[in-house]
Amino acid sequence: MSDCLFCKIIAGEIPSKQVYQDEQLVVFHDIAPKAPTHVLVVPRKHIHSLAEANADDSELMSHIMLTLPKLAQQHGLNDGFRTVLNTGKGGGQEVFHIHFHLLGGGPMPFA
Ligand code: 5GP
Repeated sequence: MSDCLFCKIIAGEIPSKQVYQDEQLVVFHDIAPKAPTHVLVVPRKHIHSLAEANADDSELMSHIMLTLPKLAQQHGLNDGFRTVLNTGKGGGQEVFHIHFHLLGGGPMPFA
C-alpha cells in the first residue's frame, strides 16, 4: 500500500532500527518506546488489522506467534514479556498495518 507507513519502512523508504527480518516479517524498534525493549513485529504483507486477516494468513499468524518468544529471548527478556495487538480505532490502533508490539525489560505495567 503506497500510503502505508509500515509498508514504507519495510521497503526501506523510511528509516528504522531493524532488529530482525525474514521472508515474512520485519522487526524494528518502536519510535516511542513504552518499555526498555519495545519492538514492532510487522508482516511484509499489508493486512490492515487483525479484523481483516483471513484463513490465507493462518501460516503467517502462526509464524509471528512462534517468532515472538525467540525475539524475546534474543533481547534477554528471560523473565517474560508482553505482546500487544491493537485492532481498530476503538482498540487503540494508530498504524493500520497489522503489527504486534513486543515489550519487556522493566517494571510493569507498560502499554
Ligand atoms: P498501534 O497504536 O497502531 O498499535 O502502534 C503503532 C506504533 O507505531 C506506536 O507504538 C508508535 O510509537 C509506532 N510508530 C509510529 N510511527 C512510527 C515510525 O515512523 N517509526 C517507528 N519505528 N515506529 C512508529
